[in-house]
Amino acid sequence: MTVETTTSVTGLRNRPFGAARSERWSQLAPYAALAAIAAVLPWIGNEYWAVIGTRAAIYWVLVAGLNLIVGFAGQLAIGYVALLTLGAYTTSVLVAGNVIPAVPLPLAFGAATVIGAVFGLVVGLPALRLRTFYFAMSTLGFATIVTQIALAWKSVTGGGIGIVAPEFPAPFNTPWGFYGFCLIVAAIATWMSANVAHSRFGRALVAIRDAEVAAEANGISKVQFLVPVFLLGGAMAGIAGGLFATLQTYVTPDAFTFDLSVLFFIAILIGGRGSILGPLLGTILLTILPEFAAPLAAWSTFLYAVLLLVIVLAVPGGIADLIDFKNRRPLTDAREIQPQPALLSRVIARQPGSQPLSLRNVVLAFGGVRALDGLDLDVQPGRVHGLIGPNGSGKTTALNVISGYYAPQNGSVALGGATLELGHPESRASHGIARTFQTPRIVGEASVLENVMIGATVTGRATFLETLLALPRRATDERVLKAKATAALTAVGLETLADIRANRLQHSELRFVEIARALMLSPAFLLLDEPAAGLSADEIDRLGSLITEISRQGTGVLLVEHHADLIFAICERVTVLNLGRVLAEGAAAEIRVHKEVVSAYLGA
Ligand code: ADP
Ligand code: MG
Repeated sequence: MTVETTTSVTGLRNRPFGAARSERWSQLAPYAALAAIAAVLPWIGNEYWAVIGTRAAIYWVLVAGLNLIVGFAGQLAIGYVALLTLGAYTTSVLVAGNVIPAVPLPLAFGAATVIGAVFGLVVGLPALRLRTFYFAMSTLGFATIVTQIALAWKSVTGGGIGIVAPEFPAPFNTPWGFYGFCLIVAAIATWMSANVAHSRFGRALVAIRDAEVAAEANGISKVQFLVPVFLLGGAMAGIAGGLFATLQTYVTPDAFTFDLSVLFFIAILIGGRGSILGPLLGTILLTILPEFAAPLAAWSTFLYAVLLLVIVLAVPGGIADLIDFKNRRPLTDAREIQPQPALLSRVIARQPGSQPLSLRNVVLAFGGVRALDGLDLDVQPGRVHGLIGPNGSGKTTALNVISGYYAPQNGSVALGGATLELGHPESRASHGIARTFQTPRIVGEASVLENVMIGATVTGRATFLETLLALPRRATDERVLKAKATAALTAVGLETLADIRANRLQHSELRFVEIARALMLSPAFLLLDEPAAGLSADEIDRLGSLITEISRQGTGVLLVEHHADLIFAICERVTVLNLGRVLAEGAAAEIRVHKEVVSAYLGA
């Protein structure tokens, strides 16, 4: 059987069925191997191993959720031991009947899940306002508060003496029985976190982490995507806390050390950001390590620190990078970007609207600099409109006003008769406005295909809960997004690089990836900021044909560009900016010979 990719008559990439299947198996194989090891452990290990295995499983239940927050969304929640503490005390106190009459064990776990979720959100919310370091400190502060309350609230928690943890009924009341139970919970946690990670939600989190501005331009609002994972991470930590209490048999505040928080966090870092298998292996490693280094137990924090340092210096991508064999293969240098504009109809296919995108009297000053000084601009649907002018004349600023990054001091932006809310970049995707950036904003650690799929995040139908539980709409979303992204990549000529990690691509290729990502919205208007910069003459020609065809498909294009040849070859109308004002506006043929424009900008 041939393993080469075949190109069908439609031009879309059709992988041989077997290839996709074997890839799926190779992804699942490591999990199957871990499950096999876990399953034979009772036959080869003693009960001491049961305790260690149980501990690893419980830690992973917490880390699996935290991984989405830290590893995927890049939010430095380091005080997560607090949620483990809350879960442990909630189950123990409820089953012991210290506050209200004793409740059955399953109900106590339900309460721990809810309390974990609520406080997961409370701990997480500052992330929406605070930057990395400050957010990290706020989570640590919360951890200290929880421990202090556990110590002080003696009537309920037993203070420093502690409280008896709930016991599990048979057959889970033996070390190996409880081990089996925790394994099942850990397997479910893995499955759920994978469902989220490999969905529009997981990709959106990574976009928030690595390309926040691009995420916003694609309609990804931080609140909308972070809140559900804070709830999930907290809920999973709450459950882990309940299991942890039972494993300890007795719950005291000093079981929840700062070291434990560090362990969770480092497990994710040495595992590799944006991976599930890596942090899983990291958690197992960090749980077992102290057992082998028992004489060094007092040094455990120090050992973690050294391990972290070694990983960060030697393999910045963590374990996940070490085992990413697919991206080891060298790429061929003789790559050509060969767009196929004829295939754009599969991606855009929109009825051109009749209303322009209009800016009226837009004024935006940065301190004393008037970057835009009363700008009027009309971009017609289905046309290519050039925006040119010397460096610093306000071109990028104009795009930033249209796409909502800057709220101008005066003036308005309207589309189809409706005035757009100023200063809300995440609202633009729903209006059908897409853009690329002067410096490509790409998620380097995600594949090219995933980067493109991010473009249509907001068009997904499955809710977070449906995604978590892998209900049918999740699979539908994935199929639709993947098919569209493949079509977009084929149209821009990059389909052969779909599975490659984006940070391995050349600059010129990234420009086309950004265009493909922007096309995923089937945009009414596409804003391109110097797309030809850094491209070869041939590539600029092909880019020109691609842009022309994009406009023929009904998308209005606002093209900011320095290459005058490209501008005059493909634009119907051109606006020339100078010092934030319109110097000239008109049909391309007029602008080309416009006296002032020629002397001020185009040159003789
Ligand atoms: P162009 O894209 O046409 O080269 P810009 O729109 O990037 O120009 O910049 C227009 C003017 O506004 C320049 O003088 C620039 O220094 C200034 N400017 C742009 N963005 C900012 C900012 N965030 N803060 C301060 N000044 C800015
Ligand atoms: Mg610029």
